Amino acid sequence: MNLTSPSQVKDWCISNGFHPNRTLGQNFLIDRNALEAIVDAAELQESSNILEVGPGLGVLTEEMLKRGHKVTAIEKDKILSARLAEALGNPENLTVHAGDALDFIKEGVCDGFDTFISNLPYQAGTRILLDIVTRKEAKPETIVVLVQTEVAERLAAGPGNKVRGLAGVWTQLDYDVKIVRVVKASCFWPRPQVGSSVVFMKRHHKNDEVADDVRETFKALTKRAFEHRRKQLGSTFKNIIESTARPEELSNEDWLNLATALVGVDI
Ligand code: SAM
Repeated sequence: MNLTSPSQVKDWCISNGFHPNRTLGQNFLIDRNALEAIVDAAELQESSNILEVGPGLGVLTEEMLKRGHKVTAIEKDKILSARLAEALGNPENLTVHAGDALDFIKEGVCDGFDTFISNLPYQAGTRILLDIVTRKEAKPETIVVLVQTEVAERLAAGPGNKVRGLAGVWTQLDYDVKIVRVVKASCFWPRPQVGSSVVFMKRHHKNDEVADDVRETFKALTKRAFEHRRKQLGSTFKNIIESTARPEELSNEDWLNLATALVGVDI
């Protein structure tokens, strides 16, 4: 099947009695230009070792395999995970895990890949991404994800940006983040309500030496601060932080300085 042919994808679904599942965010990419742009964006080295979450019918998987890379794909949908390897011709460089990526991440199955590429499912997508980028163990050097544009903007937002939030602050602790392409809703089937964007993330290694207790404090501090995002920090952390700034105004360096000073303090 040509996975970027809308009619062939629809025909496959109809003839197999398969109804795309909204809860699992099954909006399949059916646009060749967008597909190539996503894989190109990852700037893959020869024989990269790639993790993919949510391969679906295998549109990205097939392209990465075709370019000679090794792919480990995790798919929650039992029907899709069961058919993937065979549908792609049982390639040697493909491993498929059936189940929830969040469980596999906890078990360490997602550690040690050089690249993570995914057209992330709508509901669990941000959580999956954050679980990967905040893991202590070998994180991917490069990440390319397709997410709703609103989520992409939050991930890339720097200090002072109104949409800056926890997801951006946590991701940017170890990654430089930029939006590289907008992908229209018409590039998916079924067509989602909103457009998506391709986000490119590269590890910057600036904070590799930050101690575990500082990282823990950074997480606790930012989590609490963004739960009260409209409040000044001095009001959220009474008697602990003296500041009139609001959480989105701080840079990651500011947060790390605060975290370093507050290790061991009950926040
Ligand atoms: N990669 C395909 C594409 O680009 O057409 C499908 C992308 S679709 C947006 C998201 C995929 O993630 C679906 O195949 C869905 O079944 C799968 N999925 C949803 N939640 C998941 C989870 N928690 N763990 C693993 N896969 C998941």
